[in-house]
Amino acid sequence: MTIPVSPSHGTLRPLGLSEVTLKPGFWQRRQEVNRTATLAHIEHWLEKAGWLGNFSAPPDERRGREFADSEVYKFLEAMAWELGRHPDPELEVRYQKIVARVAEAQEADGYLNTNFGRPGQQPRYSDLEWGHELYCYGHLIQAAVARARTSGSDQLVDVAVRVADHVCDVFGPGGIASVCGHAEIEPALVELYRVTGNARYLEQARLFVERRGHQILDDIEFGRAYFQDDMPVRDATVLRGHAVRAVYLASGAVDVAVETGDTELLDAVAGQWSNTVARRVYITGGIGSRHQDEAFGDDFVLPPDRAYSETCAGVGSVMLAWRLLLAQGDPRYADLIERTLFNVIATSPSDDGTRFFYTNTLHQRVLGTEPPADELVPRAASTLRAPWFSVSCCPTNLARTFAGLAAYLATYSDEGLQIHQYAAASIRAAGIGLEIDTDYPVSGRVSIRVTASPAEEWTLTLRVPHWADGATVDGEPVTPGLVHLRRRFAPGDTVVLDLAVRPRLTAPDPRIDAVRGCAVVERGPVVYCAESVDLPEGVAVDALRLDADGGLADRDGGVEVTCHVSPPVDGAWPYGPARPAGDGSERVPVMLRPYHDWASRGPSTMRVWLPLGE
Ligand SMILES: [Zn+2]
Repeated sequence: MTIPVSPSHGTLRPLGLSEVTLKPGFWQRRQEVNRTATLAHIEHWLEKAGWLGNFSAPPDERRGREFADSEVYKFLEAMAWELGRHPDPELEVRYQKIVARVAEAQEADGYLNTNFGRPGQQPRYSDLEWGHELYCYGHLIQAAVARARTSGSDQLVDVAVRVADHVCDVFGPGGIASVCGHAEIEPALVELYRVTGNARYLEQARLFVERRGHQILDDIEFGRAYFQDDMPVRDATVLRGHAVRAVYLASGAVDVAVETGDTELLDAVAGQWSNTVARRVYITGGIGSRHQDEAFGDDFVLPPDRAYSETCAGVGSVMLAWRLLLAQGDPRYADLIERTLFNVIATSPSDDGTRFFYTNTLHQRVLGTEPPADELVPRAASTLRAPWFSVSCCPTNLARTFAGLAAYLATYSDEGLQIHQYAAASIRAAGIGLEIDTDYPVSGRVSIRVTASPAEEWTLTLRVPHWADGATVDGEPVTPGLVHLRRRFAPGDTVVLDLAVRPRLTAPDPRIDAVRGCAVVERGPVVYCAESVDLPEGVAVDALRLDADGGLADRDGGVEVTCHVSPPVDGAWPYGPARPAGDGSERVPVMLRPYHDWASRGPSTMRVWLPLGE
């Protein structure tokens, strides 16, 4: 089955890319751009930066950071899902050529890394804190899993199995009793177990999950919480440290818990997820508010102008929430996936799929400059989307996510079929056929037409997002959560869900001090922002105070609001007497646009949270 994540137990079962197909709409457009433009763009840069060449270059000519191999693997994963979804002989040839180059670098005992172990390089596994060898294997194995599930066995699968056997030999019982500074091998090994049935891989993943947290890695300047080695996974109460590491590890822990029946471990991760969502996630679904270590901040430390919100952390958050959704079925997981897809995943790439945000700030104070088209740029330095980065994890992570996106729309169970995300799509699974037509999120109207159905009754379950007050199903009011429609369906039956998408004002918990007294305009699942290119001449985004009573009007794809304009006064000292905000300033209409489109019209200043004023 062509499924990105395939647990053998769980409340819900995933559908494969052969069972769910996106039709023209918000997500299919992005998936097509990924297929037709982003894949070639990535390949160009992997060659240009030398990261593909590393697999055949002499050790002293190796280029790129220590984890550069992983970008090639994530690219292979994206190609594998894409080839499974959409056969393409030309892409198949490119895929096989790259696999052959990777295979060439594998050593006799299965070891495979271009940065360690060869003459003139550091010894193998001599720097588990920063070396990323097991992390790179994780992405190699994930690519092979994608290939195995879409095409069966091939050279990449053979390479990955030899790598996994090598890892079990070296890090198994009696071997190196440690872990990698960057989690990723954990979910990968469980997925390889699911593909091959080899329980050794599951046991090795379990060992890695259990070992971490016992101060097994050397202390570093950011502390051991950075790589979640400060306390055991099953004892932690909240996600912490480096955000991508944290969600990858938690994903692996869920995979291990599900396959071994470890409900204590599953409950521990679910509890961490709930506490994290309650205190450490941006309105966009983004995670990570510390630039220094790309990490979660303390509870409620969510400054918009310091939002790190790495694109990869958004990808990892979707990976984690999806696994928890399959395991437990709680619609809150799908709520966060939706928020993250529309406001982090959709924000990173440019319309043409060849430039990307690495970090996703919520407040841009200064005009950015266009990054160079043909140079690597520092990851967090760009204020506009850039073609490639010296650490370029995000573009390849997006590519594999877009290629497999359809799999996150729906699931099935013995009861019937569940729809979690709304997009125009065709579904054929378990004897059920559905045609879903919608222009969501432009409107909230979703038409679901049955094209095939078993003779007996079954349940169609629809997620009503947490924000969707006023939603209806076939004209009957429904409340946020899950709606279960159990009946004997027949071809031609149609169910119409209307999610009442309209602009709304959202306020933060007052403990998020950085945005206290501010509000966000949201419309359906989409967060809106004020951008300087939409403001009247001479008005800056930092001069705006939102009139909460001024109305919210849908207009030309934006939301028009009324703002007071209070130009900042530059003085010698940026503090003065405390006074009420209201000062009878000028009122102007301001058009807010979807945050995911920001910075697509050249340099601009931008803010998501607008101070409230009278
Ligand atoms: Zn990244």
